[in-house]
Amino acid sequence: MKYKKKEKKLQKENITTAVCALLNSGGGLVRVQIENKDFDYRLDTLGLDIEKSLDELISNTTSKDYFDITQDGLYLNIFVKSWTTKFFLSRICSVDTGLYSRSFTSKKKASPMQVMDMMEEKSKGKRARFDQTLFFPEQINELLDRKYFHLNEKLPLSESLYMEFKDFSGASDKVRIQEAIPDYFSAFANSDGGCLIIGVDNDAKVKGCCTQCSESETKHLVEERIRKLKSIHFDYCDEGAPSYKLTITNVRDDQNKPSGFVIILKIEPFCCLTFADDPQSWIMNSDSFVSHIEDLKQLNPSEWIEMMSTKDTEGTIHGTEGKYYILAMQPED
Ligand SMILES: [Zn+2]
Repeated sequence: MKYKKKEKKLQKENITTAVCALLNSGGGLVRVQIENKDFDYRLDTLGLDIEKSLDELISNTTSKDYFDITQDGLYLNIFVKSWTTKFFLSRICSVDTGLYSRSFTSKKKASPMQVMDMMEEKSKGKRARFDQTLFFPEQINELLDRKYFHLNEKLPLSESLYMEFKDFSGASDKVRIQEAIPDYFSAFANSDGGCLIIGVDNDAKVKGCCTQCSESETKHLVEERIRKLKSIHFDYCDEGAPSYKLTITNVRDDQNKPSGFVIILKIEPFCCLTFADDPQSWIMNSDSFVSHIEDLKQLNPSEWIEMMSTKDTEGTIHGTEGKYYILAMQPED
């Protein structure tokens, strides 16, 4: 399949999405119309990027267990089997979980299997019993009480599993703050909590941020972004929203003039899951024999969690008994 770069990316996304939906809906056939008349699957294959993305979808287990691919004239037939948990996979298949966790001194996208582990651990209340004070440096409390920081002052802290510094001084700091908050909030809330400190570089030196904003604008910027995050409780849980403490402290330069702020966002461990983005996982949403890419339904965070929590004994996922989907795709889909 020879396509231009942009079309190729679209093709990869569409094929991955379609395959994900079929895996989650009892299996079926993706029938891709081939544009290039000289295409020969035996010689040209799917292309490495599509293969890689399908491999990730099945968590790098054996592709033969899930896919059979044949060419039928100007059509490529991708036969997709039903998702099963018998290979110790998560309950449903997802391209991206939309969730982060904390790993050493950075955030990490959680894989579907990690999410299963997180859900199991959280359901046993392990996270709730975790004692943060054992790991949090006491110095943080003193810093939270400070009236102001000096520009370039070195704070008595370092980055850790519970501490992340971000230096967003300079242009586009507002955009970068809004981009960072979902990922780090999700990572700390889903793990054992922690502090995101914005306006401080990797060596713990105060740099300030939001020099063009007032304190209340800065506060609003952060709180607005937090308010948009989707935090979902498991069905047995009746707790409230994730809790956090936001402290915004002035920074002064060596002439004692204002030089932006340091934002300290302390995030408590959350009982359930906080999403940075919607999960990328699809199911078939059509009763007709032949479906199209528009007929796929992307699961929202609540639906996704519900399906991830479904207990089954057979090892097969929500069997759409007797139903066999055919998904037709044109090259420019
Ligand atoms: Zn909860």
